[in-house]
Amino acid sequence: MSRAAQVAALATTAAQAVAAAGPATEAGPIAEADWAAALAAVRDLPADPEILLVCHLNPDGDALGSMLGCGLGLAQLGLPVRATFPPPFELTPPFDRLPGSELLVDPAVAPAAPDLLICFDAASANRLGELAGRLDTAGTSIVVDHHASNTRFGAVHLVDPGAAATSVVVEQLLRRLGVPLDEAIAECLYVALSTDTGSFKFDLTTPAVHELAARLLATGLRPAEISRRLFDSRPFGAMKLYGDVLARATLEPDAADGRGLVWSYATLADLARHGQHRHVLEGLIDAVRVAEEADVACVLKQVAHASDPDRSEWAVSLRSKGAVDVAGVAVGLGGGGHRLAAGFTAHGALDEVVALIRAAL
Ligand code: AMP
Ligand code: MN
Ligand code: MN
Repeated sequence: MSRAAQVAALATTAAQAVAAAGPATEAGPIAEADWAAALAAVRDLPADPEILLVCHLNPDGDALGSMLGCGLGLAQLGLPVRATFPPPFELTPPFDRLPGSELLVDPAVAPAAPDLLICFDAASANRLGELAGRLDTAGTSIVVDHHASNTRFGAVHLVDPGAAATSVVVEQLLRRLGVPLDEAIAECLYVALSTDTGSFKFDLTTPAVHELAARLLATGLRPAEISRRLFDSRPFGAMKLYGDVLARATLEPDAADGRGLVWSYATLADLARHGQHRHVLEGLIDAVRVAEEADVACVLKQVAHASDPDRSEWAVSLRSKGAVDVAGVAVGLGGGGHRLAAGFTAHGALDEVVALIRAAL
């Protein structure tokens, strides 16, 4: 079947898919009208369309996995798809071996005015960095996300704050498009799902999440290998760096109205001393948040201005065990995220930034 014929067939295929799918796995608040609008955006593409998929800055497993899984699904429909993310355009472990990476193009050569733009795992347009302008130049756009704080910055919104990951929404979209899960799509969606549920440990790990995981695994995935790559493997130098960071952690039992704060930091000098790249710090917050005396955990990662400590730039990660809404704190400081996992970018000396966080808590 030609691509045009395949896409023309989508209208029926999609309707049949919805009918065959039965009740959605996640009783999300995405309205049928939004699903219909998303399917129409795909169905009504011109001949030889330009389709660009984008995800948030410094993409994590959910951003990349959702984007590439969706990209592979659209490619199965015969649609030409390209995917990108804002600079620094660098794929780092453990996400450098995801299926679908062949769809990635440098943002510098990504279509300037695609017919369709689809955004993944970004709560607001500024999370798309310099690619945010594509929202204005694209023919139409679909925002696929699960942040409660989503600002609905596109034309069509598939946003389900009850979904454990953006990939939960992507799987529903692919089902409605009539795309069957193959092993490559499943690996992308599984990486996304296990990243955002902290390996199926966090609050939104519902029965429906496990059902979805089961369907993904049934395509032939090897969960032990994927989990080890995602969570249990890092260079020896990174292990030693974690040791330094944990040794200097501070516990403040009285902070956050007595709920307790534990925090630590990693500098560019720490990375250089251990010969490590910034990406190894992604799991650092998980090592710090184990302190049982604190509800809130915070890790500050220096990203720029090492020579002038007073003008440092920090990527700040915040986590709560349940008592504190850290998304509120992060939004107040210019960032965003979820109630129990959020972050923001800060500028200034380490002590100043920590004082800001303490005050916001
Ligand atoms: P992280 O601590 O980097 O793993 O981020 C946790 C969550 O916070 C992410 O999933 C995002 O939703 C959000 N987040 C982190 N950094 C930012 C930021 N600079 N701006 C907005 N949201 C952020
Ligand atoms: Mn994300
Ligand atoms: Mn996510």
